[in-house]
Amino acid sequence: MNAAAIICAVYFVTTCQAATIRSKDAKCGYGSCNPVKDDMINVHLVPHTHDDVGWLKTVDQYYYGSKNGIQNAGVQYVLDSVIKELLADPTRRFIYVEIAFFARWWREQHDSMRHVVKGLVNSGQLEFILGGWCMNDEAATHYNAIIDQHSLGFEFLRQNFGECGRPKIGWQIDPFGHSREQASLFAQFGFDGLFFGRLDFQDKNERLKNITMEMLWHGSPKNLGQKADLFTGVLPNLYQPPSGFCFDVFCDDEPIMDDHRLHDYNVDQKVKDFIKAAEEQAIHYKTNHIVMTMGSDFLYQNANHWYKNLDKLIKYTNMLQETNNSNINVLYSTPSCYLYQLNRADQEWTTKSDDFFPYAHQNHSFWTGYFTSRAALKGYVRETNAFLQACKQLDALAMLEDIHNSTYNIQILKEAMGVAQHHDAVSGTEKQAVADDYAMRLAYGRSECQKVMNDAFGRLIPKGSEGFPGLVWCDLYNISSCSFTETNKQFVMVVYNPVGHTVSRWIRLPVAGQAYAVIGPNNEVIETQISGVTERTKGIPERNGSLAHNDLIFKVTLPPLGFSTYFIRMSNSLVKRKYQRAVKKPMKENEDFVMKNEHISAKFDGKTGMLKSMTNLATGLELDVQQDIVYYFGHNGNCSKPEFEPSGAYIFRPNTTVPESWKMSYPGSAEQGPLVQEVYTKFSPWVTQVTRMYEGEQYIEIEWTVGPIPIDDNRGKEVIARFNTSLNTNKMFYTDANGREIQTRKRDYRPTWKLNQTEPVAGNYYPINSRIFLQDEAKDMQFTVMTDRSQGGGSIHDGQIEIMLHRRLLHDDCLGVGEPLNETGADHKGLIVRGKMYIFVDTIASSARRHRDLGLRTYMAPIPAFAETDMKYTEYSQYFHTTWSGIKSPLPPNVHMLTLEQWGGPSIEPSASQPYLIRLEHFYENGEDAELSKPVTVSLQNLFIPFNIDSVEELTLGANLPMSKLDRLKWKTKENILTDKENMYIVKNRESLTGPLDITLNPMEIRTFQVKLQSGKPVKKGDKFSVFS
Ligand SMILES: [Zn+2]
Repeated sequence: MNAAAIICAVYFVTTCQAATIRSKDAKCGYGSCNPVKDDMINVHLVPHTHDDVGWLKTVDQYYYGSKNGIQNAGVQYVLDSVIKELLADPTRRFIYVEIAFFARWWREQHDSMRHVVKGLVNSGQLEFILGGWCMNDEAATHYNAIIDQHSLGFEFLRQNFGECGRPKIGWQIDPFGHSREQASLFAQFGFDGLFFGRLDFQDKNERLKNITMEMLWHGSPKNLGQKADLFTGVLPNLYQPPSGFCFDVFCDDEPIMDDHRLHDYNVDQKVKDFIKAAEEQAIHYKTNHIVMTMGSDFLYQNANHWYKNLDKLIKYTNMLQETNNSNINVLYSTPSCYLYQLNRADQEWTTKSDDFFPYAHQNHSFWTGYFTSRAALKGYVRETNAFLQACKQLDALAMLEDIHNSTYNIQILKEAMGVAQHHDAVSGTEKQAVADDYAMRLAYGRSECQKVMNDAFGRLIPKGSEGFPGLVWCDLYNISSCSFTETNKQFVMVVYNPVGHTVSRWIRLPVAGQAYAVIGPNNEVIETQISGVTERTKGIPERNGSLAHNDLIFKVTLPPLGFSTYFIRMSNSLVKRKYQRAVKKPMKENEDFVMKNEHISAKFDGKTGMLKSMTNLATGLELDVQQDIVYYFGHNGNCSKPEFEPSGAYIFRPNTTVPESWKMSYPGSAEQGPLVQEVYTKFSPWVTQVTRMYEGEQYIEIEWTVGPIPIDDNRGKEVIARFNTSLNTNKMFYTDANGREIQTRKRDYRPTWKLNQTEPVAGNYYPINSRIFLQDEAKDMQFTVMTDRSQGGGSIHDGQIEIMLHRRLLHDDCLGVGEPLNETGADHKGLIVRGKMYIFVDTIASSARRHRDLGLRTYMAPIPAFAETDMKYTEYSQYFHTTWSGIKSPLPPNVHMLTLEQWGGPSIEPSASQPYLIRLEHFYENGEDAELSKPVTVSLQNLFIPFNIDSVEELTLGANLPMSKLDRLKWKTKENILTDKENMYIVKNRESLTGPLDITLNPMEIRTFQVKLQSGKPVKKGDKFSVFS
């Protein structure tokens, strides 16, 4: 039974239809809404504050209201002030959204205040909407991190407010474009709807005209079907009040002056203006209900200003119903109360199956620059996601207890990752000082998680009572720097694999010596290669003092959810064949240079080292693919007119449609060793790349190094990697959404409206979170580029792919951040960023298998750690496990264990023992692969080595509601007109599981389970929400 049905069962149907739905015992939820009038236009006033979890100030500065010279904003005062005002009148409403802030405030309150606030939540006066730790960005975020940051907020609300604290509505009022995957995840959280503010201005004009501002969005039309459908509404005015009705202490609009004896009495005019605004808005919306967002950024620090005037606005506008036959009815409301009325209205809604990217607010203002802005931060956030997953897994596998403080320490990284997903964090649209603060939080969280991992390894590695020395992690691998491996001559490396499959990975250790012997976990000699660290790398200022002159390269093979240990010793003796140094391989100017392994052959220009073609040796598919790195000049401008829009942190606006070409060329060079071959290409002194082919791998790796981007010509630059292929693509290309489902893209085209393209490059950019590819059906060929972080890109010409790698700009784009995107790095000369892409060519049918597998292994890359030892293998292996897996057999190749963690607080159902949370994911789409797209069953019974599972309960994706209790509102659509209401789609709950714990997963399905262990430990008592990083 859905909420509507519950209410209709309690009241007579006629009462229900008369819509005076308010019970004396009103509890939270749809039953607690203020009454509406069905024969009138109902204006739902939604008092709200939009509190960025960092933007111009850090999250902590915003909380306290420090640095008010930058922006007058203090969230603590908002909450203090609003609570008082809600208590003064039970009809008043307020929504709160960002749990990173609310949790800070909650921690400071006494029990009496907490009691009061719970009362407001239980009565529906204060409603939590969205309920994530932040309002996450949708273009640069990965689905793993989105689910985690929501689960974190949901868990806080569940522990403190129970069911009345469970959010039912997505509220993405500020993010700069909207991903279909986000809609799908929201639906799977059990949300009934989503409201947002920003969509392309052309799209918005069409929708206003056609009265399609509200729709049913198919979040996963090919895979999850109706389970991922989400009712979606576009707000009329971003998230601002109608013009003239901002009653905040920081607004200049006139208050309502209602004593007619006083001068400046303005009630009649105010009400008239308001009714006009309401009537104009109502024209564009389908039902006799409209919503007005009464608030904005950090407003309500003095809530009395708002409520005093809104009370009067409601009173005087509604008075006209009696005196003037007005049909406008104004009420305090919330997004869920508004949504509920839309559902009651029994309309047919249009549907949408694509996404809301890219977003432009005027002809030359495409918000596609932030897809790449702050490329280093984006890379750090992605890498830290894997670190957090590994930390949670190890805590769970080692069954750490709270004497280790592990819950608390993990919470620090969870919260740091939570704020980093914000739409001004990973998006790169914050001030530099705030970006630094996000990075610092991540670094601190990682160091706290390293303590947890050390405690876990301390349990998992020793065979007996022998203590294991602490491990050390190296955070600067990406620039070939690690003081531990550089200064120790003999050590062990323990590599943890956070994936439930056996994984091989190439390791490159920065070292100071010339030769090393490496012994593997089974006492086998591991083949290695030594390659010199390039001068280019040595010139990266952040390597300050690094002694590494060489990279020690070898391949590790790791058990699923487990680790392997490698013994590394500097060798002075003659280097054996197995430990070879790479040697220069001459390139001839007039001849192509060929690099080849057993799977791929690639041709490079013998003069420059630029890639020309690649051949898949198994299929014989050969593709001409010229690759280089070039740049656009960012448009200069002062925003004084729309035509003067500059490129900035948000906006991408190149000043030509053709990238700049280099004035001179540099000779390429190559090296060959037994394990990896490399071609070095220098496009300019500040743009270089290494193209690598590892033995046995079916992809080519491209490591790009870009920066410092020169600005001595006073011009900002946006650097792109470009692939020109001979594929016939007919404007089509494909990108992923948040690392998950593939979105079909067509150049200069939008599926739901006729596009007038005004920016041929920027207007064709889309988010690339992990992959972009081209297909040529006639040739049965797919060319795929995988990335290691979120970037922007597209296919600006047929057969072409471009990916923006790094940008440095000298103008602010006037969207609030107030700074140009000018990252200067440690030496203040301009930040150098390094990253990787992986490319391959295959048949269309074989490509999904390749990119799905590589995508998983890239974002969940193994994590190495180090310890000093003078023991040899035989001695070490007496005391310590050299290899270990947490599961008895690998997961099926199409299944990923997305979550494995000790579930912090008391369980959803009463439980004496500490529950675990497990998410299993089928990570292939329907029809993508002949075998791996099929449904798959995993048994949780006897899966884990350290523990056995007693029982499981399926939860919604956000882990805050048993699946058996999920009941979402149902919607009628135009495409699927059903006359019989009973036959309308009902989200089927899965039957509760009994017996063998067999979990069946359909394509792209994620299933979330709260798990009880056999003889589990007592429930943890600690309040993990007492930390905020
Ligand atoms: Zn915002």
